[in-house]
Amino acid sequence: MVRATVGGPEHLPCIDFVAEAEHCPLCGAAVQAQKSKRRRVMTVQAGAFVAREVRKRCSSDSTHPVLLSERLCGLVPPRQGYGYDLIVQVGLARYLRNLLSCAAVFGTRIPL
Ligand SMILES: [Zn+2]
Repeated sequence: MVRATVGGPEHLPCIDFVAEAEHCPLCGAAVQAQKSKRRRVMTVQAGAFVAREVRKRCSSDSTHPVLLSERLCGLVPPRQGYGYDLIVQVGLARYLRNLLSCAAVFGTRIPL
């Protein structure tokens, strides 16, 4: 379930990312909410927002791995604030800027 709210202390929209798994991948037991964590996230596609991730853990064995939201993991690297799409755009921009400056210095044509 996804829930989005506005009006938090950061004045950014807050989007909930609940771990999608219903059962433990190791033993098949039901999972339960462990805790939630909030972090500011910025992506090209959605802009800036606060991601509230609800993590789940195995209800029968606490040593089994904590389950995260796959949707949030697909948007932003773990413990980071910038989305993969933003990282790619910045990398491409820096690559092209350096390519253009090298071409200007050495007077070569850019094979584009
Ligand atoms: Zn388990």
